[in-house]
Amino acid sequence: MHNVIIIGSGCAGLTAAIYAARANLKPLVIDGYEPGGQLTLTTMVENYPGFPDGILGPELIENMRKQGQRFGAEFKAGAVTDVDLARRPFKITAGKETYESWSLIVAAGASARLLGLEAERKLMGRGVSTCATCDGYFFRGKEIAVVGGGDSAMEEAIFLTKFASRVNLVHRRSEFRASKIMLERARGNHKIQFVTPAAVEDVLDPGKGAVEAVKLRNLETQKFSTLPVEGLFIAIGHDPNTKVFRGKLEMDANGYLATRNGSKTSIEGVFAAGDVQDHHYRQAVTAAGSGCMAAMDAEKFLEEHKA
Ligand code: NAP
Repeated sequence: MHNVIIIGSGCAGLTAAIYAARANLKPLVIDGYEPGGQLTLTTMVENYPGFPDGILGPELIENMRKQGQRFGAEFKAGAVTDVDLARRPFKITAGKETYESWSLIVAAGASARLLGLEAERKLMGRGVSTCATCDGYFFRGKEIAVVGGGDSAMEEAIFLTKFASRVNLVHRRSEFRASKIMLERARGNHKIQFVTPAAVEDVLDPGKGAVEAVKLRNLETQKFSTLPVEGLFIAIGHDPNTKVFRGKLEMDANGYLATRNGSKTSIEGVFAAGDVQDHHYRQAVTAAGSGCMAAMDAEKFLEEHKA
């Protein structure tokens, strides 16, 4: 029987683990499908406070994990496959194991949608990025491409014009899902060039460990072309990792968990932190902040209910 189980080991989950462990709650952290979360997919993090020279994403995550372990947080590998939140203690199943807990912090994150290309995985953090706010600064004076046709793609393309010499916005259709205002803003920006209808077929060159170009296919003419760029931003949306909570916790139309009064979800004793409940800020530091909130909320809940 656990006081608190934390689902997810990204920035939010690990910060919750540090706080819960220091409150003597001996939290159990279930790592999830992507141990360490999205920070493990990036290289240098320059906007996390306290690191004037930046820190590598995987190193930052490893430090947080060690910090939690130092105060008694326990970690289990594996992903949650089922939850029973109908009554307390809650039951959490991860594969063959079932755990019981008086409270639960869901910090399962959201996964950036990817194109599914092998080169994209290999070059992630080496010129391929899913976060303009995090990585835009590395592309000062460089020509880059953004893929996507929604508001995220427009927002990222506009933001990236602050750094890049030119932004090629590659979208598979010539119509856009983006709101009119965002589309107009992007169209009005002289640094943005629209490349449509085009699909990214490959990213060059994984052998060199850097992005040199993207291979495109025009979806009308089926002709291939090579666009020389030094960076590729994938902005085709995110999916919150909330499948196992469907019908059990309140969520919005896109599957993000609904929170109120800090980190409270629709079930008493269940708290949510990080990208699983935030599709707006999505930063390491905001995820960490909300992880702290969830641990404090869980501690207060346990004080009031456990006895
Ligand atoms: P989205 O609206 O779902 O758009 C995803 C885009 O990526 C679509 O254009 C889609 O193309 C394309 N796409 C999806 N899978 C692809 C693939 N495998 N290959 C190539 N292209 C692919 O996602 P989003 O832009 O992240 O926006 C999510 C929500 O957040 C929306 O409600 C949006 O309005 C909101 N948002 C608002 C703001 C703002 O107002 N400032 C900023 C960001 C996001 P198709 O159109 O062809 O399907």
